[in-house]
Amino acid sequence: MKLLTSLLAAAAIGVASFVAPAMAAEKGVVGIAMPTKTSTRWISDGETMEKLFKEAGYTPDLQFADDDIPNQLAQIENMVTKGAKVLVIGAIDGTTLSDILAKSHEAGVKVIAYDRLIRDSGNVDYYATFDNFQVGVLQATSLVNGLKAKFAGVKPWNVELFGGSPDDNNAFFFYDGAMSVLKPLIDSGDIVVKSGQQGMDKVGTLRWDGAVAQARMENLLSSNYTDAHVNGVLSPYDGLSIGIISALKGVGYGSGELKMPVVTGQDAELPSVKSILADEQYSTVFKDTRELAKVTVSMVDSIMNGKEPQVNDTKTYDNGVKVVPSYLLKPVAVDKSNAKDVLVGSGYYTAAQLGN
Ligand code: BGC
Repeated sequence: MKLLTSLLAAAAIGVASFVAPAMAAEKGVVGIAMPTKTSTRWISDGETMEKLFKEAGYTPDLQFADDDIPNQLAQIENMVTKGAKVLVIGAIDGTTLSDILAKSHEAGVKVIAYDRLIRDSGNVDYYATFDNFQVGVLQATSLVNGLKAKFAGVKPWNVELFGGSPDDNNAFFFYDGAMSVLKPLIDSGDIVVKSGQQGMDKVGTLRWDGAVAQARMENLLSSNYTDAHVNGVLSPYDGLSIGIISALKGVGYGSGELKMPVVTGQDAELPSVKSILADEQYSTVFKDTRELAKVTVSMVDSIMNGKEPQVNDTKTYDNGVKVVPSYLLKPVAVDKSNAKDVLVGSGYYTAAQLGN
């Protein structure tokens, strides 16, 4: 009897230790569909969420789609098949997910649009992002500040405009935010866009591709600036800024008398922060992806506990079918004067990563 009791106890312990890993997964699978690894921000978004979800007792399924739409669709489908209860999606093309989201909805899966709005679907439950219009305002404000600082004696200022990917809803918010600052200066003649290329249909950069931006900048320079100088370039993303700066350097800007134009950016990617510290790129916009990841994990946790996630905007993000309740974080403008304070101070980078 004694033997039997201890055998049973041992078996119970065995069962307990056997089920322990499954218990950790009990809170359920969360699919995390990120667009690409070509930009470090998405790697950091994905990996931070993966870690936080694990700590909160969920089983994250993190996938990157190499900027390939069919790939992202297949990954999401697979997450649903694996029984994901919630999907966190950083869409490649925000208009291509309606069918798969209709299927997920039937399976009772909740959906959070991560950073980029998912359009044309009623099955998007929440949106976690930054104040995207404000990102554009910060970019253009820093462009104008840079023009005043670097090209005080020059008027009008010659500026060229770049937009983000036209399949990314954010790109329009960035552009509109920037134009809310630049348009009055264009109208007053303080800024001239010599190429005449304005509007997202003319200045968009498909898939946020730096090589595409570089090629367009080379064309702009050879068609419009053989007998004039460009003073500023509105660039919505660091990966484009690097391409734009290469094109500018290619024709001699940044050496001798020919000053590097004021070039903006976004994401505080390491090569761009180094470029800012080296007086090449002028500015970027820092969006703390660790905070976005935190907000998203807490949204998922609320949903899973049957509570309403916290949102702070219920008006702005109409996806064509519904206004998606959103949580907007604040972006921060960064240039050489505050780069170290903001980026090292917040622990986003170490001083060593920035080169000292
Ligand atoms: C993000 C930006 C990023 C861009 C390119 C946008 O949707 O909001 O932070 O620069 O995609 O990856």
